[in-house]
Formats: sequence, C-alpha cells, structure tokens
Amino acid sequence: MAKQGSLSINSENIFPIIKKWLYSDHDIFVRELVSNGCDAVTKLKKLSVMGEFEEPENTNYRVDVVVSPEDKTIKFIDNGIGMTEGEVDEYINQIAFSGAEAFLAQYKDKTNEDQIIGHFGLGFYSAFMVADKVTIDTLSFKEDAAPVHWECDGGTEFTMEAGDRTERGTEITLYLNEDSFEFSNEYRCREVLEKYCSFMPVEIYFTNEDAEEPEKEEIPEVVDVDAKEEGAEDGDHEVTLDEEEEEEDNTPKPINTIHPLWTKHPNECTEEEYRTFYRDTFHDYKEPLFWIHLNMDYPFNLKGILYFPKINTQYDTIEGTIKLYNNQVFIADNIKEVIPEYLLLLKGCIDCPDLPLNVSRSALQNDGFVKKISNYITKKVAEKLSGMCKTDRENYEKYWDDISPFIKFGCIRDTKFNDKMTDYIIFKNMEGKYITLPEYLEAGKESYENQVFYITDDVAQSQYINMFKEQNMDAVYLTHNIDSTFITHLEQRNQDVHFLRIDSDLTDNFKEELSEEEVKETTDKLAAVFKKATGKENLILKVEKLKNADVASMITVSEQTRRMAEMMEMYGMSRSETGFGEQGETLVLNMNNELVQYLLEHEEGEHVDIICQQLYDLAQLANHPLKPEEMTAFVSRSNKILSILTK
Ligand code: ADP
Ligand code: MG
Repeated sequence: MAKQGSLSINSENIFPIIKKWLYSDHDIFVRELVSNGCDAVTKLKKLSVMGEFEEPENTNYRVDVVVSPEDKTIKFIDNGIGMTEGEVDEYINQIAFSGAEAFLAQYKDKTNEDQIIGHFGLGFYSAFMVADKVTIDTLSFKEDAAPVHWECDGGTEFTMEAGDRTERGTEITLYLNEDSFEFSNEYRCREVLEKYCSFMPVEIYFTNEDAEEPEKEEIPEVVDVDAKEEGAEDGDHEVTLDEEEEEEDNTPKPINTIHPLWTKHPNECTEEEYRTFYRDTFHDYKEPLFWIHLNMDYPFNLKGILYFPKINTQYDTIEGTIKLYNNQVFIADNIKEVIPEYLLLLKGCIDCPDLPLNVSRSALQNDGFVKKISNYITKKVAEKLSGMCKTDRENYEKYWDDISPFIKFGCIRDTKFNDKMTDYIIFKNMEGKYITLPEYLEAGKESYENQVFYITDDVAQSQYINMFKEQNMDAVYLTHNIDSTFITHLEQRNQDVHFLRIDSDLTDNFKEELSEEEVKETTDKLAAVFKKATGKENLILKVEKLKNADVASMITVSEQTRRMAEMMEMYGMSRSETGFGEQGETLVLNMNNELVQYLLEHEEGEHVDIICQQLYDLAQLANHPLKPEEMTAFVSRSNKILSILTK
C-alpha cells in the first residue's frame, strides 16, 4: 500500500523557487545526482572494507546516466548502497528537504549579484530545477531489504510504495519540464557531464537509450584494463584497426577519470602524465612550460596541479583557468576568492574538500580559512619559482619571457608574493643576458647611479641603443604591457631607484663639457633658426657636444611627461587632447656634428631652412613615426635634397 505524505516543508511553493533560482546554472542537477550516486558507491565500498558488506565477486561499481530524447527523461543509476523505506523517508522526505528548505531560507533574498558557489546543499532537490516529476527506485544492500518506489510530481506531495527494483542500488528518473528538454539531448547532456563529472571517483557511463545501437554483438570477455586505459588516453591513436581493436572500441568507456593526476603523489607522476593531463583537461595544443603539484593534508586538505602555460607572443592575452573541485566534484572555474587573482593567469585544478562551499562569495572573501588556502597557494608558487631561479637558472631564464608577466602581475597585486619574489626578478640586458636589478645597478654605479635605463622597442630606440653601446652603457628590456605598471611598482618599493627610458635623457657619458656661455650663445642662435624653419614656436631645444659626431640631431622625451601622457592615453584620451603632444620632447643638437656647425656659421645661408626641417624630422623619425602630413613633407623635401646633388 502506498504511503502518502506531505513533504515537511512550510512553503507551498518550494519548487517554483528552486526552478527560478539561479537560472543560468540549471545544469548543476547533473552534478548533484551523479555525485549522490558516487557517494552511494563510496559508502558501500567503505562498508565492505569494514566487513559489513560482502562484495559479490566481480563487482563493478558504476554510475550510469541514461538519456531518452524521445521520452525527455534522464536516469541516474548507481549500484551503491541503496536505501530502505525508512531511509528514503529520513534522507529524502525529511533531511534532503529540510536541507533544501534551509538553503532557500538562507538564499532566497539574495539575487544573482551574490552568486552562491557550488550551490552545495541543494543536493537531491536540484532535480526539481529541471523536472516536473521525479521518481526513485531503490534497493538497499541490506539483507532482506525490500525495493522502494518514491514519486513526487513537483508539488509538495509524494508517494512511497513497494517498488520492483531487483538489483542493489538506486535509479532516479527525471521527467524533464518543457524548459529543460535540452538536457535529454545526448550532446548537451554529455557536455554537462564532462563539465562537472570528469574526475568523479566512480566510473560514470553515459548512454542514449534511443540511439540506434551499432550492431550490438555480445562480447562477454572482460576487457583488459591496460588496453582500455591506453585507448582512453590516446584519442587520436587510430593507426591500424585490426579486428581486436575494433572490438575494443565497442566497449563502453566511462566518461570520467576516477584517479585524476592530482590525487596521486607527485613522486608517482611522470612528466608525460603531467603533459597528457594538461592536454586533456585544458585542450591546449601548446605544451605547458612547467607545473607545480600541490599536495598537502595538514592543516587543511588541498591537492592540485598548477600549470604555467606558454604564451605565444607578448600580445597574447593571457587567460588561464583554474578549476576548483571538492573531492573530485567540479565546483566552478576561476573563483577569485579562493585563488589569488594573478594566479588565474595559470591553468590548473585545485581540489579542496575542506572548502566551505555552501556560502556566498562575499562570505568566502572574508573567511579566514579561505585566506589561508590562498596564502598557501601563493607560497607554493613563489617557492617553486624562486627554487627554480636558484637551482635551475638556465630554465628559469628560458621561461622568463613567458612567466614574467605573471610574476610581475603577482608582485603588483600581492605583497606577500612580491616579498618572496623580489630577489628573483630578472631583466634582459642589451647583451641578451639576464641580470637582477642589484646586478644592473652595481655594474652602472660609476656612470648612472641608481638610474635604470630601459628599452621598450629596439627598432624605435635603435639610435639610442647604439649610443649606449658605444659608451659601454647597459640598459634592460621592458617590453611587455605590464612593464609600465611594474616600473612604477618597483620605484615605489625602491625609493631611490629611477627608471628612465633609453631616449629620455642623455647622461654625461655621452657628452663633452660645454661652458655656460657657449650653451647660451649657441642655443639662442639655433633656437631662432629652428623655430623659423619648422614654424614651431614652442620647440624646446638643447645644444650638446655629443662624443659621437655622426649624430646631428635627436629627440629626448622626458620620462615624467611621457608617463603622464601614456597614462592619459590609457584612460582613452588621445595625445592631442591631453595636450602632452610634443610636450616633454626636447630636440638635442650636437655641436660636434658638421651640419650643426654649418648652421651656426651660416644662419642666413640658402639651405638653412631645409637643413633644419630635415634634421628635425630625422630626429623625430628615430623616436616615433611621423604624422601623415609630416611624412609627405619629409618625402618631398628628401627628393628636393637629392635633386640638389644633380646640379
Ligand atoms: P547530501 O548528498 O549532501 O547528503 P542530498 O540532498 O544530495 O544531500 O542527498 C540526501 C541524502 O539522500 C543523502 O545523504 C543520501 O543519504 C540519500 N541519497 C541521495 N541519493 C542517493 C543515492 N543515489 N543512493 C543512496 N542514497 C542516496
Ligand atoms: Mg548530494
């Protein structure tokens, strides 16, 4: 006789609430029901270990997910512990419901802005997010247990009666509601399974009940495990298909890996396994550079693997993925409350069973425990990197260009990380060697005390680079987007160090002494001539005696002004709007150069204008591209100059 009852819940309408709740994440019911199946198996295995359950021979624990696109149903079947009538009453009618109730009470006021991580706690009843009717057929492992059939059609009423299940375990059937038919689609369902269940600890098999079976011959023999694993790992291994392999191919394979690599001890993992795991998990065709295997069980449980991905070019946006798991059950990607933000540039999996996941994100942010996890990860990453710098410098340098944006970002964002990494930040110098900041400063202490010259573009700055080389001066390359922010960061941390782009100033090394009168006299003269020739009233001009007499004119750009202008540009203002256009630019003229000398001696000469204009444009060109109209003028003027040669 069927037992009927009212679910112990106050709200008449719990289901509409559940259904509406977090619209976008409807698919989590798959995770909840499959993980319940896994739990049921795990519990039974434990009982067997404890001697409370005698495992029949050849027991193959599994969870089956079966869709029927025609009937619009999904079944979740496990051969785990099962439930007796009393247990269904207790765990489903009372506990699961009260869990759902408590859950809703806690969260129903919260809107999407405060998404709940993982939605743990909703459990079994998440089925009602997608189904109007749910049935349970279960048979407990206990001797003499009777099968139970439970049914609930979306109201708060259920019926429970004798069932007809003959095998140990539980079968849960969801009759999908119209809005959720998609989940009975084979591809959609497989996609969701792969998202949440890829690493669950019990084998999960997926079938489409309605699909036409490809000639199903019964092959009774057991497949040998090795061959199976090989096949599963190596997807594109389709070389010779002899008969044996064909047979093997028909054997259903679980959709998941029950021992993901992070669950193994680092000593037991081979390099190839790490690489394969990376490829399979992140579908990245590029090889990872290296990885960190996290493995800790005290004071909290945390396992995982973090990969440093290869960045193709400096312009690649770096976008990592860190997947968070709770006991091999996928929770979500990139939860920045748990994983320090800069680590999200990496790719990896982190499994932390101790995480309090049924709390909101904002609560996580303030959770001391979560902070500890985050600090631990930071510490491990810094240790790995500094260790590599100390003991495997060659590789550290080899990877530097790829990993430095990440390290710099981490230093900017995280003081703890910064403190641990400070000594291991390296800079590529003009010879292509990697040196630390103290090494650079030490080498240059005679000539450019506490100044760090840097190159952002070795084409645009080649003239300056050559001058540096002539004077045996060194500069470092800082070419990545992040470097401008990183420079500011370094200057804040090292108050007396100043970074100067290589074209920002000419140090005394390049110059010979000039008397004040000399400077005054020549500057006045040349300024007048140049202003007239170029029509630029605001031109700032400086006369120097540069050791390299070949250099006639060049432009230096004040570091401060340039940084201001760059910052304004970052906020979307163009150079002309910011008014910083050519401000900060100084035209340097070299008195040691014969053209400049000619100008000084022939202020009124026939070709003075054209020489001034050309020298000015050449100086600009060595620093930055000309504006279109300037370029046009430059080309026609150059032609004119050439034609003088023919006369
Ligand atoms: P939780 O899994 O967090 O305990 P659920 O709502 O998912 O909460 O499930 C409630 C309870 O119902 C479980 O603790 C378990 O006792 C029981 N249960 C659910 N699904 C199964 C199943 N497939 N086999 C056996 N027991 C189950
Ligand atoms: Mg559960």
